[in-house]
Amino acid sequence: MELHIGHLIGGDIVPGRGQVLPVHEPATGRVIAELGDADAEQVSAAIGAARDAFPAWSALAPEQRGRHLRQLADAIEARLEDFARAESRDSGKPLHLAKSLDIPRAVANLRFFASAGEQFASESHHDHGRLNYTLRQPLGAVAAISPWNLPLYLLTWKIAPALAAGNTVVAKPSEVTPLTAFMLGELTRALGWPPGVLNILQGRGAVTGQALVTHGGIKAISFTGSTRTGAAIAAANAERFRKLSLELGGKNPTLVFEDADFDAAIDGAVRAAFTNQGQICLCGSRILVQSSIYTRFREAFVERARALRVGDPENADVDLGAVVSREHFGKITACIETARQEGGAILCGGEPVHVEGRCADGWFIAPTVIEGLPSGCRTNQDEIFGPVATLLPFDDEAQAVAIANDSRYGLAASVWTRDISRGHRVASVLEAGIVWINTWLNRDLRTPFGGVKESGLGREGGLEALRFFTEAKNVCLSW
Ligand code: NAD
Repeated sequence: MELHIGHLIGGDIVPGRGQVLPVHEPATGRVIAELGDADAEQVSAAIGAARDAFPAWSALAPEQRGRHLRQLADAIEARLEDFARAESRDSGKPLHLAKSLDIPRAVANLRFFASAGEQFASESHHDHGRLNYTLRQPLGAVAAISPWNLPLYLLTWKIAPALAAGNTVVAKPSEVTPLTAFMLGELTRALGWPPGVLNILQGRGAVTGQALVTHGGIKAISFTGSTRTGAAIAAANAERFRKLSLELGGKNPTLVFEDADFDAAIDGAVRAAFTNQGQICLCGSRILVQSSIYTRFREAFVERARALRVGDPENADVDLGAVVSREHFGKITACIETARQEGGAILCGGEPVHVEGRCADGWFIAPTVIEGLPSGCRTNQDEIFGPVATLLPFDDEAQAVAIANDSRYGLAASVWTRDISRGHRVASVLEAGIVWINTWLNRDLRTPFGGVKESGLGREGGLEALRFFTEAKNVCLSW
């Protein structure tokens, strides 16, 4: 065993006391670490440490909290290579992606919210003989629960605004990808962060996560993960009236109109479908193409999908690495089987990829493109969260919008057209929290981020996150 992953509780790293779980490297199937679930007592201890740390942390000036966050960002950046390697080994994603996207974005999250916390201001309303102003006060100890697809990126996306706003945090990363959160916890110790300000609990959702979200000592829960888990957390909190932010699943449409810049649309659709093996909540897995260009688009898209290289995530020239776990591999291949049974034509992929050498036992799936299925079938309705995309033709704008909105999810959409009026018109009627026109995954951290329908509740990003992690109190003064 290379590494035992412990929990960061009150500034100490302690081993878990619950069941011991292996942590696998998806590219090889090998066990690279182990962790023990944090049990209910350890969850209580972490929440207690966060509550104890709250008065002093919340009393710091925003600039002082910002300094801690910037130091952490600098320390991660100084070890970017180590963090990227750990992220890639733990999740199966290409190393170059971890280096160019995941870790830089984690650094950016910390720096962004360090500054945002310093700039955060509240409103005031002044009229004759009366002044109303709003205090935005931190909540206390808050929970941050994150998934495996963008491990450090999404963990920092939550803890940075929570800490910047003056809260203390108990974070629970995914048990599938615990490495970089563990490394981040060690860095906060090396930097001399006040104990208890950030606690990191590792363990399974049903054990550690459940104990965290049902504990009376936390004031808010920020969750990113599946719609199913989000619903369970919401149900468990129905009578507790705590703030909940839920960032959930998606089945995002890519809409390609006949007047689009064809090459740009192909590039965008390929990236949206297959980046990170299709395991990004924002991935465009339903590609809607206007009938007049459907055949041409299909040929070009399938050619590009076939040309993507699947292999050892450490190789600089691979486009796709492994999917995250044996279990997830099984889920994706079962979804492809469902598509076959539903009568879908598999235009490329549709099967595992055998990689020679060190990755012979890894979990790799070929980029898969499917056509010929109606919008209402399971393949077009259920989130697959893998390198699988469907093609659906449409005749006109109204039909495109109807198909795009024919989903219980509503996270993101991308629209490809040269007609700027059409772009705005379609964006305004799509049922999604985020719409990109002629681009995809183009993120400005100041903008609201989140979904509608079963894709979630609330928004992260910029001021929205700082508002979530504070309670508004209006004060009215009369003279
Ligand atoms: P998941 O719901 O299985 O797990 C997410 C986290 O919740 C993990 O840390 C897990 O341990 C924990 N958890 C599980 N059960 C719990 C419980 N009962 N109580 C408390 N915590 C619990 O999701 P996943 O498989 O890790 O991630 C993939 C999903 O995340 C996909 O559906 C994807 O769309 C979604 N996602 C959404 C966004 C977004 O911003 N909307 C971003 C990334 C991923």
